[in-house]
Amino acid sequence: MKVGFIGVGFMGRHMARNILKGGHDLTVFDINKDAAEELLSLGATWAASPRAAAQASEVVFTSLPRPQDVEEVTTGEGGLMSGMSSGTAYFDLSTTDPSTIKRIAEAGNARGVQVLDAPVSGGTGGAEAATLCVMVGGDKDTYDKFKPVLDLIGDKAMYCGGLGSGAVSKIVNNLIGLSVGVLLSEAFTMGIKAGVDAQTLFEAVSGSSGNTTSMRSFPNGIFQRNFDPGFQVDLAAKDVGLATQLGRDLRVPMEMSNIAQQRYIDAQNKGWGRLAAGAVARVQEERSGVEIKPNE
Ligand code: NAD
Repeated sequence: MKVGFIGVGFMGRHMARNILKGGHDLTVFDINKDAAEELLSLGATWAASPRAAAQASEVVFTSLPRPQDVEEVTTGEGGLMSGMSSGTAYFDLSTTDPSTIKRIAEAGNARGVQVLDAPVSGGTGGAEAATLCVMVGGDKDTYDKFKPVLDLIGDKAMYCGGLGSGAVSKIVNNLIGLSVGVLLSEAFTMGIKAGVDAQTLFEAVSGSSGNTTSMRSFPNGIFQRNFDPGFQVDLAAKDVGLATQLGRDLRVPMEMSNIAQQRYIDAQNKGWGRLAAGAVARVQEERSGVEIKPNE
């Protein structure tokens, strides 16, 4: 199958590589051509624009930072939609909001293009190992038709319902994980200041009801003061903001989520937007005067 892929950053490069390895013809575009270097060396074809990628493809995927980037790449000037032909399909793998994908779908439907939201979860490790959860919203027949390609990206592709259902499912997931990240920083700084070593706390919680995926990043992350990005604070702030905005739009009270969002904004204002999302804990470290790391 002829597959187009736009946005080959931390996540996209792995997903695109796995599609290529699956035997498909891959055409790629990114505003940063260097990001596509490895894929080109593996046999992918470079497209000069999103439109050119669309013209060469039966199905196109995007993995872009923010909703406004997705909108620009799809319906902006020279965008994907201007190059896609009737009967083709477009899946957005980025984390965005349901209203963005619905606006894009209007433009797609006018051209006979099926538009689906398909955000992913599982981090850069999951992207590399093709073990992502892919949460898909949109036309079920199109989902079924392209499921073999989705299965090259992750081993947990699931149909969530109508258009926007994947986006909502992903926002719910990230709101939980990222808010827990803030709570973890408060719990650990309190426990350490009370005299218990961070490693002991980690082991106690690991075997107890407080164990979470967010905490399992501690040994290779904050315990080693390792904030190398895989998933950046800027993207975390965006995701929690998408959730609180959706709550506002729907008049759902979400006090705790809005507090968590402020903590990510604090981290951005400290200049840590490009660090790993776990760096949000540094805000609490500064406030409490405690570092979250085991004793030597
Ligand atoms: P990234 O910033 O590493 O990659 C985005 C890529 O898109 C970059 O290569 C960038 O050059 C390119 N790009 C930006 N604007 C563009 C444009 N207008 N046209 C073409 N290319 C453009 O981000 P990422 O970490 O790979 O995340 C991508 C998406 O996946 C985001 O929506 C993010 O929230 C989501 N996500 C990330 C992770 C993670 O662990 N990093 C996990 C799950 C979901």
